[in-house]
Amino acid sequence: MAKHTKIVATLGLVSDSREVIREMIEAGMNVARLNFSHGSYEWHGNVIKIIRELSAEMKKPIGIMADLQGPRIRTLVQSEVEIKSGDFVLVSDIFYAPNFQFPISNFQTISNDQISNDKKFSLDVNKIVDDIEVGNEILIEDGLMKVVVREKNDGVLLAEVIDGGTIKNHKGINIPDAKLSIDPITEKDEKDLEFSLQNEVDFVAMSFVSSGENIENLRDKIKKILKRENDLPQIVAKIERKEAIKNLDDIVEHTDVVMVARGDLGIEMDESKVGVFQKEIVEKSLQKMKPVIMATQMLDSMIKNPRPTRAEVSDVTNAVIDHVDAVMLSGEAANGKYPVESVRIMKDIIENTESSPYDNVTHLLKLKDDEDFKNFVKSAYELAKDKNVKAIAVASASGFTARLVSHFRMEKPLLVATNKEKTYNQMSLIWGAEGFFFQEKELAKVANEMIENQKAAGQLIAGDLVAIVLGKEGAEEKTHSAKTKKI
Ligand code: PEP
Repeated sequence: MAKHTKIVATLGLVSDSREVIREMIEAGMNVARLNFSHGSYEWHGNVIKIIRELSAEMKKPIGIMADLQGPRIRTLVQSEVEIKSGDFVLVSDIFYAPNFQFPISNFQTISNDQISNDKKFSLDVNKIVDDIEVGNEILIEDGLMKVVVREKNDGVLLAEVIDGGTIKNHKGINIPDAKLSIDPITEKDEKDLEFSLQNEVDFVAMSFVSSGENIENLRDKIKKILKRENDLPQIVAKIERKEAIKNLDDIVEHTDVVMVARGDLGIEMDESKVGVFQKEIVEKSLQKMKPVIMATQMLDSMIKNPRPTRAEVSDVTNAVIDHVDAVMLSGEAANGKYPVESVRIMKDIIENTESSPYDNVTHLLKLKDDEDFKNFVKSAYELAKDKNVKAIAVASASGFTARLVSHFRMEKPLLVATNKEKTYNQMSLIWGAEGFFFQEKELAKVANEMIENQKAAGQLIAGDLVAIVLGKEGAEEKTHSAKTKKI
């Protein structure tokens, strides 16, 4: 039986050729993530074309996820600046000339000889200083360096160095406690979004999400650009900001998919709590029936080494036991020495975990009595639990019915037939779902056709009992039927 937990792999310069992408699909990659922080449109367009061709040739849905960079704040320095613990530095958001002098004499907290105009850096976002308060921490280069704001004067911050180092140009900045008014969709994101939608990607990942409203604004933009209301790419909310943890319920409610983006989350929050947050995010996503991806540093050492550390193996195992929909590879697949091997090892860990008794934890929807539809699918689940049932066959237009059935995490083949190409591709991220596409066919007919094909391929045999769950044609899948049938 195919593995249930899916693999998202980030493509980059070591994994952009047809040969390597084919090997990654063969090794178990289900979704290709394109990181729009890097790469030209020519590069992304070429990779998208290769994936679509291989997906058709290999008869396997491969989802494409466009990951928008979002409002990543970066340093601006004329030359490298050495800072050490106890130093004071000046921080602004203006583009200063090399000999520009900040108004040192304006600051009250310290005497003029404690600060020099050599120790300064800027943030590359206009007026960002307005959002930063005295007491806020500014983290530089993935948290390698830390300064704390002691005074604010006329658009310039005076900050004390807590953890020193060398400030280089264009390094990432995090300001965890500031309430940033910066637009979560930047001008670059708008262009990248338009390019991605022209290329009909299946998922759009939003970085630095703070609220459900952010998600709705992105969805409105997507509808406007595509000029349609349905067959949209699904929005993936990357949970990586302190604000996002505060507003987790609201974000999970509004998004289609959740990503636990542990890289930035571990910078914004106390890193010793990341494991606890990851459990909370997964649990809330599963309860709201939203697919969830565990991301970042899962097999990090494989960027350099052919084999992962034991702790990394254990990390993937635990995510599988927690019943996430997918686990993700970043640098391991995009710019490491072993892109194919890292997918293969991830698949082996998933298969070994799924065949053990340790992942047999059920995640039942907390159903309210008034949610008829969910109760209906629960009845379908009760039917499917029958030990004689060999597989669950679902016909789904928008994918909603398939996601609902998947939620019960049944260790039986979950065969999903659809007449929508986008839904077919989106099945690549759904726990346990095997997607089958039937062009221009009525939904009512595709489940039977899929079962016949499975019989012809020897996956099912005459006399097998199959649970059949039918969604209804249309975006809002509301009416259905469920039965078991001897095929
Ligand atoms: C992360 O921060 O964990 C993440 C997935 O985002 P990115 O790779 O865009 O930094």
